[in-house]
Parts: sequence; C-alpha cells; structure tokens
Amino acid sequence: MTSLAARLARPEILALEPFDIAARANAEFTADAIKLDANENPYPPLSEGPLAAGLNRYPEPQPERLKRAMAALYGVATDSLVVTRGADDAIDMLVRAFCTAGVDTVGVSIPTFAAYAHLARLQGARVVEIPLREDFGFDASTYAETLSRAERVKLAFICSPNNPTGNEVEPRDVLAVADALPDTIVVLDEAYLDFSSTPSLAAEAARRPNLVVLKTLSKAFGLAGARVGCAIGNPELIAIAARALPPYPLPSLSIEAAVVALAPSRRAVHEERIARIKAERERLAPLLAQSPTVKSVRCGGGNFLFLEVENPDALADRLRSLGIRVRFRPNAAPGGLRLSIGTEAENEAALAAFGVVSAAAPVRRAELVRDTNETKIAVAVDLDSASPRRIDTGVPFYDHMLDQVAAHGGFSLILSCDGDLGIDAHHSIEDCAIAFGTALSRALGDRRGIGRFGFALPMDEVEAQVLIDVSGRPYSRFEGAFEASHIGAYPTEMTAHVFRSLADALGAAIHVRVTGDNDHHKTEACFKAFGRALRQAVRREGSLSELPSTKGVL
Ligand SMILES: *Cc1c(COP(=O)(O)O)cnc(C)c1O
Repeated sequence: MTSLAARLARPEILALEPFDIAARANAEFTADAIKLDANENPYPPLSEGPLAAGLNRYPEPQPERLKRAMAALYGVATDSLVVTRGADDAIDMLVRAFCTAGVDTVGVSIPTFAAYAHLARLQGARVVEIPLREDFGFDASTYAETLSRAERVKLAFICSPNNPTGNEVEPRDVLAVADALPDTIVVLDEAYLDFSSTPSLAAEAARRPNLVVLKTLSKAFGLAGARVGCAIGNPELIAIAARALPPYPLPSLSIEAAVVALAPSRRAVHEERIARIKAERERLAPLLAQSPTVKSVRCGGGNFLFLEVENPDALADRLRSLGIRVRFRPNAAPGGLRLSIGTEAENEAALAAFGVVSAAAPVRRAELVRDTNETKIAVAVDLDSASPRRIDTGVPFYDHMLDQVAAHGGFSLILSCDGDLGIDAHHSIEDCAIAFGTALSRALGDRRGIGRFGFALPMDEVEAQVLIDVSGRPYSRFEGAFEASHIGAYPTEMTAHVFRSLADALGAAIHVRVTGDNDHHKTEACFKAFGRALRQAVRREGSLSELPSTKGVL
C-alpha cells in the first residue's frame, strides 16, 4: 500500500529525480580529501575569524552534526527530521511538496501566524480560514468538521502556542484533528513550545502517517538571524517533503552557529534564559494589566504577551517617540498588540511607556561563553537571585567547591564546562575560574553600591580566612599547604591557582589564609569563606549610586 504522504504529494514532486549535487558523495570521503568536484574556489574568503574558515566550500545539504543535535534535542531519530532555513522554509517546503496550484487546499485557524496562508497562496493553493473561539481558544471539533467538508485539504496548520494570541492547544486536541482528517497532514507549529509547559508532539509525529511538527532555533535559542529550523514527521513523509527544498538550504555560517548553540556546554545557560523569559512574562502580565491604556492582557505560552489597548494610535505615537517597537495586530482584535519579552531593562522601559511604575532594581547579571581548544565554557551569574545553582565543570569536587561559593555568596551561578579532562583537570579548573571571575566582574557593572569585605570561618579543626576588596585591581595572596596531591580528580595545588585566576578576572584583591589538618576541610573552608566574603562584598547597600571608594571610581 502506498503511504499517505505518497498519495498526497504533488505528482511533479514524486516524479522529481533527486538533485544531483557533488555533496552526495561526501560520505565516501574524509574531510581532508582533495576537492576538485564542485567548481568551488580553492581560496578561503578574505575575512578574519573562525567562522570564515571553509566558506569557499559548499555546505552539506543536510549537515549530519546539526541533524544529530536537533534530533537529540527534540527526541526523535535523524531520519524523522529535515533541517530547513527556518521554520518558515519548512512551511514553504510542505506547501510546495503537497499542494497543486488551483487544486489543493490548506486549512488555518485565525488569527494566527500569517505565513501559512501567505505561502499557501504563493503556491496557488486555496486557504480555508476557521476562526478561533471568542477567547482565542482552539476548538478542535469545529476545525476538523469545517475542513472535513472542504475538498482536497492537503495541510491543516495548528500553531501552539499560537502567534499572536499565546493560546496553547492541548496535544489531545491536535491528535483528535489528525484522527478526524486521515487524508490531511496536520502541521503543528511548535515555534514557541519551549516557553510553555505543554508537551511536544515531535515523537508522536515521527510515528504517525499524518502529523508533522515544526521547530525553530529562532526563538528559544536566539538564532533568528541564522535561519535554522526543521520539520519532524515519519521518515517517508519527510523524505518526500524534502524534495521541495533547494539544493543547499542552509549557509555554512548558520550551520556552525547552530551547532555551537546546541553544544552541551550551552544547555544550562539556554535553559536559564528560557526560565528567565518565562518569569518576566509572568511578572509583566499583571503589571501591564494596571496600565490605564490596557484593556486586557493575555499571558499564554509564548515569549510574548497579547494586549488589547485603548487608543492604539496614541500608544503607537508614544512608543515611537520612545524608540520602543511592538507589533500592532488589529486583525487579531481591535487594539490588539503583541509585546515580546525582552531583557529586564527593556521590559522596564516598556512598562514605563505603558505608564506602569515598577520598583524593580536594575539587574546585576552576566552571561558569557569562553571557548578554547582546551575548554568550552558557558556561565551565567545573577547577583540578586539565590537560585538556580547548577554547576558542571566535569570535576565533581570542584563543582562542590563552586557551589559552596555561590550558596554562601547568596547568588545564582550556572556554569558548564566541556573540557579536555582526558589530559587532566588543570585546564578545566583554571578556565572555569577565569570565566566565573569575568562573569562576576561583568555582573557587578560599574560596582556602584557595593562594599569591601572579608570573612573567617572554622570548619572542625580548620580555620580559613578570606579578605576581599572588589577594587578593580587584581592581587592574590594564598597562605596554606596541603598534604594530599588530589581530592578526587581535583589537584589540591589548583586551589591557590583558582583564587589567582579569580582575582585576575574579577579585578579584586583576594587574600586567603588556611590552617588545619584535613585537606578536604581546608579546601572547602577556603571556598565557603570566599563565598561569605563575596556575599558581603557584592551586597547592595545604601544608595545605589554610592561608590565605596573615596576615589569616586573602582
Ligand atoms: C517566528 C515563527 C516561525 C518562524 O520561525 P523561523 O524559524 O524564524 O522561520 C514559525 N512559526 C511561528 C508561529 C512563528 O511565530
């Protein structure tokens, strides 16, 4: 029996020979083969930087490393997924593969993402629009019934969370539509799902004959400019749909950027960013509801809010004069407006523009990545939040020590390192200290409103003392000695080295003194005391504009 995808595909698509490109032979050669097959220029581009390397060569049509990373991220096998130039191109690919101009139909609910109808019309397909409920909820039975009465409906789009209203569609409602329309491919657009708590149907799509899930790295992974997305479905459907792609859908630079973004060392910071955007969404919604111009706020599962406002023209003028861009969506609702969640500072500016007074203090947060041939590190510090603390340096004892610093310092620390532990722990330990110190320094900003402190603590027979002056001038002194060479995989000689790296990167004088017998206690006491000293040193006190120096600058 022929598969549903083969029955629904345009006859022209089924008749297409696969595009004959040189890259097809990639699997037969190693990366250092002499490439005289694709009329490329042998010389690399005249620009600097690692991203320029290899740009004289054509990219892989379906880059294996990226496919593997995305398949792992979404919990499917690589043959269930085709990488596309953004989810937009996945929509275009599906419409081109399945809809014959003047003959076939697609279904969309409205209001929703405009690209479905736009790309369908571009291909000459008919569009059936089914309104969402009054409250923008998705009514599965109305949607399925309307489409079951229409002729030749090849694709039925469902967007969850829906752009621009934020409403989420229950997975069982999506599956009910797929069950009710066995001769239609239901396309579930999960572009914003990372920001919601609704489970993904990606794995389900890989198993079903008539469900495709769309994903994008634009929103959750901050890669809108790279244009990377994918479609997920059963392998045969995906192979047929992929025939409508251009020969080289993704530029090498985008492939590289996406592979880096999905690297294991980046995972924890990405998760924290998503959590932060969600928390900001929940913080902003009730505050905006107090605005005199706002009639209603809809806080759905996306990285945005949907507002209905009085007098949108006056608001547009005000926002324009303040240089704040939002998306007015009068087609969705009179006075409808979609507001993306930005950084805390950007959100504060938006609140002020809506006439809402919020007393939030400026955030003291920093993120950074530090990649070398020896280590790949991502770190995020938030000095005004005690959680989360998630540390994975690859050296368990060192994780425990840095966790002590953050816990006793009273701040959030996320740090992941993918390092050359096969050689030894030295690079990972040192580079994590540099990255952590640099992040602390950046989070402190201009260092207004902070103090200079020290802390001493006993731990059983051990006594440790740390004095710190977050002065901008690096200096480090370490007095103490260890008997053992290692605690677990952690070399004890690294302790003095870590404090030196921290002092250099943070721009601080750090004096450590430790005495006692047990090396584990001694090491731990140093890190704890450092955390306690930092806690005092970075605490905001008195006026936010006050500098703890008579020089007027730190
Ligand atoms: C932003 C968006 C997309 C497009 O994603 P790209 O990968 O950037 O093309 C797809 N669907 C919805 C609902 C969107 O809002």
